[in-house]
Amino acid sequence: MQEKDWINPKIEIRETSNKGRGMFTTSEIKEGEKVLMWGGNYVNAVEAEKAKAAGKLVMQWDEDLYSIEDRGEEVGYFINHSCDANTWMADARTLIAKRDIEAGEEVTADYALWENGDYISGWECRCGSPLCRGRVTGQDWKLPDVQARYRGHFSPLINSKIEKEVVE
Ligand SMILES: [Zn+2]
Repeated sequence: MQEKDWINPKIEIRETSNKGRGMFTTSEIKEGEKVLMWGGNYVNAVEAEKAKAAGKLVMQWDEDLYSIEDRGEEVGYFINHSCDANTWMADARTLIAKRDIEAGEEVTADYALWENGDYISGWECRCGSPLCRGRVTGQDWKLPDVQARYRGHFSPLINSKIEKEVVE
């Protein structure tokens, strides 16, 4: 069953001048407030394999939790990347505010929170942050400064990889 994405009613999707559509607040969102919950189609490893074989785009979020992406269909797709994002993950399908987000600010997520593996962005990041990494890759979560910034708030899969790395 395909559940709809949920976005905080204080957010609207707007056209930007340089990066397509983005999410902007219409009033302040407080630190810790829910920003976005992906509905999507979450499945186990067996179902994910079948979907992959059928040519669908599959993302892994936890040990045995995958989503079958229907990109472009759902509002959750319109969150833009920033290398110094104002949201982070609370669990496999929920983004919360990392800090207070002022009215009119763009709501962003660092794609390093969930990208893992051989992903390399086809675009060059222009987030303007002094922390900007340029291109976003599925290896960014391994960078010490990225880990320090989002510790415990990556996808559950990446959180546990980081924990293991520290232990080993
Ligand atoms: Zn950037």
